[in-house]
Amino acid sequence: HGEPSEVMVPTPNDVIPFSEQAPIVVVAGPCSVENEAMIIETAQRVKASGAQFLRGGAYKPRTSPYAFQGHGESALELLAAARAASGLGIITEVMDTADLDRIAEVADVLQVGARNMQNFSLLKKVGAQDKPVLLKRGMSATIDEWLMAAEYILAAGNPNVILCERGIRTFDRQYARNTLDLAVIPVLRSLTHLPIMIDPSHGTGKAEYVPAMAMAAIAAGTDALMIEVHPNPAKALSDGPQSLTPERFDRLMQAELSLIGQAT
Ligand code: PEP
Ligand code: MN
Repeated sequence: HGEPSEVMVPTPNDVIPFSEQAPIVVVAGPCSVENEAMIIETAQRVKASGAQFLRGGAYKPRTSPYAFQGHGESALELLAAARAASGLGIITEVMDTADLDRIAEVADVLQVGARNMQNFSLLKKVGAQDKPVLLKRGMSATIDEWLMAAEYILAAGNPNVILCERGIRTFDRQYARNTLDLAVIPVLRSLTHLPIMIDPSHGTGKAEYVPAMAMAAIAAGTDALMIEVHPNPAKALSDGPQSLTPERFDRLMQAELSLIGQAT
């Protein structure tokens, strides 16, 4: 690999660069888009705390078919409303190639989730369109498999790929949902030019562990963070236990700023 690449993402107000040279980009928001009030409130709160992107699922890859599957198309309209209200960029997941065009009308970055990391027909399709792609690491994917999945997108013509570590399966799930592999940060630096995002929310599965892992990711040199934030985590339709309240997220953002301040 040569020079580190910069993924430049146009959002309503700014073009946000993801790269080793640029400031750390923060993506925050609920696991699922639940209703208009909660997504607008979350957008405004995370924006006030300094996030650049709002995340939120319209199409959710749930383990159980009986669990909340996301509101689909109507949630895309709510994301468009939140984008207009806040000026934040939007990151949301595409699970099915059939939904791709509709999602790309609203999203500034398309997320390919851990469970679809090796959905090669999906990778080829997101590679053949213009929006940047956030490629999450499969929960049991090696780094080489992950990089080859990214290669599918690049080979199809889309150079704008961001890699997101979201925790992997190891032998102990008693305390944490996944094992957040922060060692990928220096490893990926040696293997690829692509920008790196760390998701300590899915990486740990518990809100109380998220701030420490977010700070560790910054110390290790991440380019971006993804943090789940919900106005009322106890009532969330998905991933409540790992979601920060807007207040807790704001404290984390203050702490991040002082860490970055100390490092420079
Ligand atoms: C998500 O971001 O809400 C999600 C489902 O993530 P992952 O694909 O990493 O499990
Ligand atoms: Mn989630």
